Amino acid sequence: MLQQLLQQANFLELTLANPAFMAEERAAIADHTGVELWDTGVLVFTPLQTVPTEDIVLSSGIHGNETAPIELCNQLIHDILQQKIVLQQRLMFIFGNPPAMIEGTRFVTENLNRLFNGEYANPSVATNEERQRAAKLESYVQRFFQSGGRSRFHYDLHTAIRRSHHQRFAICPFRPEKPHLKQQLAFLNAAGVDAFLMHHEATTTFSYASSVKYQAEAFTVELGKVMPFGQNDLSQLAATREMLIRVISESEFPALTYQPENLVLYRVCRSLNKHFADFTFAFSNDLPNFTQFAKGEVLAYENNQPITAEYAGEAIVFPNAQVPIGQRAALCVIADDAITLA
Ligand SMILES: [Zn+2]
Repeated sequence: MLQQLLQQANFLELTLANPAFMAEERAAIADHTGVELWDTGVLVFTPLQTVPTEDIVLSSGIHGNETAPIELCNQLIHDILQQKIVLQQRLMFIFGNPPAMIEGTRFVTENLNRLFNGEYANPSVATNEERQRAAKLESYVQRFFQSGGRSRFHYDLHTAIRRSHHQRFAICPFRPEKPHLKQQLAFLNAAGVDAFLMHHEATTTFSYASSVKYQAEAFTVELGKVMPFGQNDLSQLAATREMLIRVISESEFPALTYQPENLVLYRVCRSLNKHFADFTFAFSNDLPNFTQFAKGEVLAYENNQPITAEYAGEAIVFPNAQVPIGQRAALCVIADDAITLA
């Protein structure tokens, strides 16, 4: 399998042809970079002639229909295999959910990005392909990070279902003990991300698990809108590509100046959770992410009661009334330039 990858340099094609399993194999690119295949969609590169200072995870396809970041990562893998990019840092690529990628759907049975940080083993829910995949992916990330002594980074790359007032934005995991770093926000801002959501609670997302379990600088990064494979305009991700290449091929993390005037910080004020089957939003289905509401304006109805905006300028992100009862139907956020950064 790995020989085929080295010859054809198309990890996406190989992953889609082997969505259930790939045996572990290792090889090298010339004499400078080790290549290890760990499983379907899981590939690790290690520089052999330099001493890396960073362990970097780039995951995509955690939602199978979010194809632009998958194609972007496949291009990076291609360019590494063809020696157009020479790595200075350890790097793991993950294509998260190959069966859903083949079906062109967000997931097959269950939203993979709600199953991390141990939720995959929740004894009250029957197991399924996504739960098994989440368990494996967490074990691969643990194995990747455990050798230790290096700084850890995890950028989990997505695209959003709907339009957005911020074309690209990132979710910063809840970490009350430690402010998020200007260094990281400046890097993502240079990569085209112009809004940052500070999450307000522990979650079961992939990036949260890497943050809380391995103290990685970890982010869920939304890079535009969902499109089928082959229909993405990757030129819109040129800045993202350029910054990812810098971070993996430079010997130190790119030193960029934090420019607050170029970005908006939001804090999550609450999750709107669905408690009843009749949960509906009061706005049209194509409302862009980060649309603001006036204080008191009705956001949703549930159990025949209105749910209203608690603050002026409260904005809605990721509305989805179709989630199962008990899950998050939307996040309510508010711009806040007083958020502490380090
Ligand atoms: Zn996603």
